[in-house]
Amino acid sequence: MLILLKNAQVFAPENIGIRHLLCGGGRVLSLSKDLPNTSAMLTIDCEGRRVVPGFIDSHAHITGGGGEAGFATRVPAPFLSHYTCAGVTTVVGVLGTDDTTRDTRSLVASAYALREEGLGAFCHTGGYHLPAVTLTGRVKDDIVFIDPVIGVGEVAISDHRSSQPTLDELLRLASEAHVAGLISGKAGILHLHLGDGERGLTLIRESLAVSELPPRVFNPTHINRQPALLEESIGLASLGSYVDATAFPVDEADDAIAADVAFVQYLDAGGDPGRFSISSDGGGCLPVFDDAGRMTHMDVGRPAELTLAFQQLLTQGVPLETALRPVTSTPADLLRLNGRGRIVEGGRADLLVLDDNHQISDVMVNGEWHLRDTRLCKRGRFETDTDNTQPV
Ligand code: ZN
Repeated sequence: MLILLKNAQVFAPENIGIRHLLCGGGRVLSLSKDLPNTSAMLTIDCEGRRVVPGFIDSHAHITGGGGEAGFATRVPAPFLSHYTCAGVTTVVGVLGTDDTTRDTRSLVASAYALREEGLGAFCHTGGYHLPAVTLTGRVKDDIVFIDPVIGVGEVAISDHRSSQPTLDELLRLASEAHVAGLISGKAGILHLHLGDGERGLTLIRESLAVSELPPRVFNPTHINRQPALLEESIGLASLGSYVDATAFPVDEADDAIAADVAFVQYLDAGGDPGRFSISSDGGGCLPVFDDAGRMTHMDVGRPAELTLAFQQLLTQGVPLETALRPVTSTPADLLRLNGRGRIVEGGRADLLVLDDNHQISDVMVNGEWHLRDTRLCKRGRFETDTDNTQPV
């Protein structure tokens, strides 16, 4: 069925004014100033409300993550509506610390499961450790031959939980990802988990200094976990890398910087707004360790934190078109997800409607409503009414 969203204030993410969006077959068919002359369509009057691209969450533990203080701390996988209620229409799954009891097979299966439930879903092969866990036995083959696999990661550096990779090991892995990306047309990136270690981004800078690999191949995440790391990341982005902040909740006593605050600092320092993304770490464990490496506290990442970071940016006065970029067009560019992260004719009908308070009232994924007028229309197969307690 054709759906017409008329009188929408479209941020694509740039503001292109009032448009009428005709959607069908999972695509945006037209984006016109004049009302299309088509019958047999469902018409929804947006009455000037803002329509924006669906969010791309470029780092979530779609199998569930955690498991850093015993088996009982393995975090369950988020449900479909945890993503959609957060405005996420495409998610990229990763394995983290636990790439032992969890593996690439189950990660790829989780991506396929989310696709069957209607969400856009991809993943990286590998996990924190080297040699990288894979499905085929080779990182390059996983990226080239397995549809949802677009890169390798999150490989841990500067962290006590890492494999303590050497420069040569990191270069070899990055080159595999890069070449596989060229062959397949996929992202071909090395997505790097950054820990609290003092070495920070040193290995990445050394990699760029001694190799021919383009800076975009090296994509560090959790860059807002410490002020010094954020500073380093601003420098790295100026060399051409894309850097990713995590939308974790931040205590006042914390060293970490909230993702929205980090983005504003990045912009204030003259950073290119097209090289900074924000992801949720949804389904992951947010642990605190003591000096002996024991976990003293854990929280769980939620896709909803991504929405909160976006809303905080707007509350801070960041213009909507700028606030959208870290969760739409920037991850789409890095991940080579053509037709996503932007509202364009022929692109995917992944759309959000925002109300006056920056709340997400409607979510369309691939032309299907998942949230309509704040009511949830679709749940994952094993979700009950009480599994998602977010106000929807
Ligand atoms: Zn991580």
